[in-house]
Amino acid sequence: FNKALAKYKDLPAVTLDGFHVTLHTNTGLLADVSPGLRNGAEGIGLYRSEIPFMVHDSFPTEEEQYHVYKEVIDAYSPRPVSMRTLDIGGDKQLPYFEFKEENPYLGWRGIRFTLDNTALQVTQIRAMLRAAHGRENLQILIPMVSRIEEIKAIKELIKQSLAELNKEGKQVTKPKLGIMIEVPSAMLLLDKIAPYIDFVSIGSNDLTQYLLAVDRNNPKVSRLFNNLHPAVLVALQMIRSKCSELNLSVSLCGEMAADPASVLLLIAMGFDRLSLSAHKIPKIKWLIRQVNRADLLKILVKANAAEDEAEIHKILQKKLKELG
Ligand code: PEP
Ligand code: MG
Repeated sequence: FNKALAKYKDLPAVTLDGFHVTLHTNTGLLADVSPGLRNGAEGIGLYRSEIPFMVHDSFPTEEEQYHVYKEVIDAYSPRPVSMRTLDIGGDKQLPYFEFKEENPYLGWRGIRFTLDNTALQVTQIRAMLRAAHGRENLQILIPMVSRIEEIKAIKELIKQSLAELNKEGKQVTKPKLGIMIEVPSAMLLLDKIAPYIDFVSIGSNDLTQYLLAVDRNNPKVSRLFNNLHPAVLVALQMIRSKCSELNLSVSLCGEMAADPASVLLLIAMGFDRLSLSAHKIPKIKWLIRQVNRADLLKILVKANAAEDEAEIHKILQKKLKELG
């Protein structure tokens, strides 16, 4: 089956009625670089920079980060690479730094942690910018944004770092800046946030967790965690239409992008940029090439009328079965 899917690598992800989807890959390991390209990724939609931090035994230096990032940026150039700044805390722990918190998912995570550790954040930004020297494909993505000040603060650090590098004789193109939409407040503030950023990327894993107040890793409640919960679908459609209105590029990089049932709805909603694990790309591309978006729009109407995720799941499974 995988061999049969491999031939999709160079074919576009386009529905039978002409809706084009750009497929990017999620990565963080150097070992993933070539599988992404081999599977036809048109760029990196999410580079999880915490991964190189996790496989280290202390905070990596600017030089160490620079070499890792450069390898990724060079391998994908001129395809875009969205490098997310360090997203630790919550379920993402470092072996050499202990977070002790009562409620880690509502705590010191992602941008909150790095803005409180400016030197660490500047080191990372410098490493990313240096790695992009001579290239045009770096984009910087901020995790766990919940307030506008966080975006302003990161922009200031990027600006300072660019000026510093300029003084050091390294002219670097200013990268596009994006935020993860994974905390509900960021979604609700899109009007105010839009002037500060170039793109957004939906983290459907955390967005679902925070919309439903369900820790997916807690076995007592994990059955309540579902990307197809009606409230999640309302939120996704709200984000999609807001981004169209604001002319803001939006992609989705959570696990939903690799789930065939969810992808049927995402296409109907108008999401035309998805980012997923490299090895899932051929299957999702195959799926996209089998469907008519016009049919999926009818399915979306039914899903929107459904009361719960079980009913939505049934509707989508029926369609997947038809498709084979
Ligand atoms: C997400 O939250 O959906 C996401 C893509 O980020 P991560 O899984 O790395 O938290
Ligand atoms: Mg997340």
